[in-house]
Amino acid sequence: MKGRVSIFRDTGKPLEIKEFEVPDPKEGEVVVRVLRANICGSDIHMFSGEAFKAFGGLFYPIVLGHEFVGRIEKLGKGVEKDSIGKSISEGDLVSVCYFRGCGRCKNCSLGQEYACFQSLVSVLREAEKPPFFVGGFADFYFVRPGQKFYKLDDDIPLDISAAINCALSQVLFGLREIGLGYGDSVVIQGAGGLGLLAVAVAKDMGAGKVIVVDAIESRLELAKEFGADYTIKLDEDFRGRIAKVKEITEGGADVVVELAGNPKAVAEGIKYMRRGGRYLVMGAINPKQKFDADPSVWIGENLTLKGVSLYHPHTILLSQNFIRRNKDKIPFGKMFYVFDFEKINEAFRSAVERKYPRVQIKISE
Ligand SMILES: [Zn+2]
Ligand SMILES: [Zn+2]
Repeated sequence: MKGRVSIFRDTGKPLEIKEFEVPDPKEGEVVVRVLRANICGSDIHMFSGEAFKAFGGLFYPIVLGHEFVGRIEKLGKGVEKDSIGKSISEGDLVSVCYFRGCGRCKNCSLGQEYACFQSLVSVLREAEKPPFFVGGFADFYFVRPGQKFYKLDDDIPLDISAAINCALSQVLFGLREIGLGYGDSVVIQGAGGLGLLAVAVAKDMGAGKVIVVDAIESRLELAKEFGADYTIKLDEDFRGRIAKVKEITEGGADVVVELAGNPKAVAEGIKYMRRGGRYLVMGAINPKQKFDADPSVWIGENLTLKGVSLYHPHTILLSQNFIRRNKDKIPFGKMFYVFDFEKINEAFRSAVERKYPRVQIKISE
């Protein structure tokens, strides 16, 4: 059996789709047939070269794509259960945690795989070498031994289920980490894929007023459909925005979430908070982009600033439950624009232009 793989050779070069023979899984491995894979913000950063150096020691060529959903094609020896002990068999729908802690460091030992130095590196493999299928933009994905994956139920819509293992679990975990509480007022900066999901998750977690800030009108409209109570258009008038947030929240937001991917948003978002407020930073992942900071404000106003990267793997199942509760209420499908696999370069171009909240690649039915 053969399968297609999109090879990423270097920044600025188009992805090349090549065919390889699908190897048999080794002991502990699982071969997943990829159904849908999304272009995540970090894929865009890697594709355009902004984030590549940040990962240090990376190599070309690689296969991009980590936000995907698929079905088990073949189980390697010794794999009979998913990561919570559910029996699995070929054909089962699964969501794969795209990183893996080393299991032998202090952070892993504390149950913080997401903070392990090796978490992302340990699943990266070079393209064009066996097992070839080492990223989401391919017909298959080889799950490494020890890499967590979870069986999903078949009643979960495919389009949104592809977002479970990155965007959705990221915002769900982040909002839990920042301690979002019942009735808390929340400002979400950025209404891309993560921002839209953050609105819906915040509401699901019992947030009070949810305010969304973005520059693009159509995204703000969509944010309302995802549950936003107020939207604020990003324009020149940052003082006006701060005043508006303070007015709506009667003094400042309990929680502010940065999902804009821009450190300028952080400088502004700090001013949205009430005294004692909490700030969650998850979008500004490009290194060496800075903002002017005045720590005396954080101290004087008892502010909490927290960065969150990755998530606790078990969050994948919480995300599935979230979808089940909300699939009839929230128009998840509207956040995606779907391209066929053959059009992956066109898909990347439109993702770089930030035309749609999330670009999805349909790999197979
Ligand atoms: Zn991602
Ligand atoms: Zn570790």
